[in-house]
Amino acid sequence: QKEEWAKLKDEPTITADEEQVELAANIGTPDDVDGVLDNGGEGIGLYRTEFLYMGKNQLPSEEEQYKAYKTVLEKMGDKPVVVRTLDIGGDKELSYLDLPDELNPFLGFRAIRFCLENEHIFRTQLRALLRASVHGNLKIMFPMIATLDEFRQAKAILTDEKQKLKDEGTDFADGIEVGIMVEIPSTAVTAKQFAKEVDFFSIGTNDLIQYTMAADRMNEQVSYLYQPYHPAILSLVSNVIDAAHSENKWVGMCGEMAGDTIAIPALLGLGLDEFSMSATSILPARTQIRGLSKEKMASFKEKLLTMSTTEEVVEFIKEKTE
Ligand code: PEP
Ligand code: MG
Repeated sequence: QKEEWAKLKDEPTITADEEQVELAANIGTPDDVDGVLDNGGEGIGLYRTEFLYMGKNQLPSEEEQYKAYKTVLEKMGDKPVVVRTLDIGGDKELSYLDLPDELNPFLGFRAIRFCLENEHIFRTQLRALLRASVHGNLKIMFPMIATLDEFRQAKAILTDEKQKLKDEGTDFADGIEVGIMVEIPSTAVTAKQFAKEVDFFSIGTNDLIQYTMAADRMNEQVSYLYQPYHPAILSLVSNVIDAAHSENKWVGMCGEMAGDTIAIPALLGLGLDEFSMSATSILPARTQIRGLSKEKMASFKEKLLTMSTTEEVVEFIKEKTE
């Protein structure tokens, strides 16, 4: 089987009915890029930049970040690299920042909420990203967006940093796409409004599931509620994909669900454009997708969205892919 997979390393990801999708990888550090290329990744769908900020006793400098982003972009060449801005808080703490103790950290002061309040930290990261953008195919993504206002504010800060660089005579790439993670139900529900203003969506199912089901993703006792194939999740995912496409925007998924063999046929049928997963899942996923007809999966979409329970959904997908 491994040999079969290896043959597909440099092949595009094409379904049995010749529809193309993109298989990208999630990474945490520049060292992960070699593994992505070795496993045939067509891009980076999520670069979690938190690791630059963690395990040390001060903020990473602009230069330090620039180097990391440049390394990733150069190694990936013209392949797309989606860098997510700092997603700190929740379960990820920073000892040197003295974040407040919270009763509900996952519902609290994290990610874009933190960045919009600590603009200097956010601006440093955006500058580093913009400067690095000349070295590859960069796309910038904001995490935990719950309202259009947050997106507009974050984008305005980015635009401001671009202007400053321009005034200084520092180069950055033209037309860098700016997108958001869809991982909060409010955003998934109002995806249509967002789709007019963002360049792309990436659905973060790890958080989207926990917020939709109100089940802490770290809590064993409620893990029975953590159901990726629950009809509510499929309905939100479908809504986000339709919203994006109605505005001619692309939509990816970078939560664990994107690499899940049961979910993949359903996601293909719902119209997902990009699947971002751990590098080692890419070749198995490419093999699976080559055996699936997108048109056939899409023809089951309506029926799929009428299922009542997770069990029914799983049963239905299995039946349709046998
Ligand atoms: C997600 O929430 O699905 C996601 C990809 O982000 P993280 O796992 O880093 O929260
Ligand atoms: Mg998340």
